[in-house]
Amino acid sequence: MSTATELAQMANELLRCRETPDYSPALNGLQVDNHAPVTRIAAAVDCSLRTIRGTLNAGANLLVVHHGLFWGGLQPLTGAHLERVRLLLNHDVALYSAHLPLDAHETFGNSFLLARELDLAPAGGFARYQTVFCGVQGTADVPTAELVATSDAFARRHGGRATASATVPGRRTRRWAVVTGAGISADTMREAVECGLDTIITGEGPHWSAVDAEEKGLAIVYAGHYATETLGVCALAEWLSARAGVPWTFVAAPTGL
Ligand SMILES: [Zn+2]
Repeated sequence: MSTATELAQMANELLRCRETPDYSPALNGLQVDNHAPVTRIAAAVDCSLRTIRGTLNAGANLLVVHHGLFWGGLQPLTGAHLERVRLLLNHDVALYSAHLPLDAHETFGNSFLLARELDLAPAGGFARYQTVFCGVQGTADVPTAELVATSDAFARRHGGRATASATVPGRRTRRWAVVTGAGISADTMREAVECGLDTIITGEGPHWSAVDAEEKGLAIVYAGHYATETLGVCALAEWLSARAGVPWTFVAAPTGL
């Protein structure tokens, strides 16, 4: 029987949490410890009342998430935030969170796994953040409209839908990048142009990114922040479940974004 601390250490090593830079609210690693050995693992994109209740309903006592308890920044333990903590503690549920280490990992990362899901073969990194690449890039020769349709089918399986910036009919995607979540920034747009990319698949982006993309000859596919970050937590939970010899469950809680 493995404890949450033991499984968290394995995950930290696998994902290189110590060496991977991140935003401070990410607080990668074990965020809430518990007492009992882990009997079932739940995976979810966000730590929320919905996913904690889903974890309890599934009978799991380790919740693995991408956006942890502190993702919203420093908050007093009142209202819904208190209720999250109270539910975890009252039901002896541990919480493990991995943000950029789970975006950037070369095989367990959201970006790598989304590329594979879309039948794209990653050949390098994209979207550098300090010492790591949060995304992946590669080459292909597919109609961009087909890529949008595949992304849409994927997003719909997770309660969302994919949209795309304006492109010309018959356009083909030859050099692409995938960066999940809120992957579009002025820096990633610049990097895309410097790398000679023609298509970026991401989760969500600011409105100006669609305007800029059209003028830069880029296509951006927005497949949903939530949907594009479902894959990493599932891969991690599956890996941990094999190590601990316990079952795992995905707790779906689409956010509408
Ligand atoms: Zn995210």
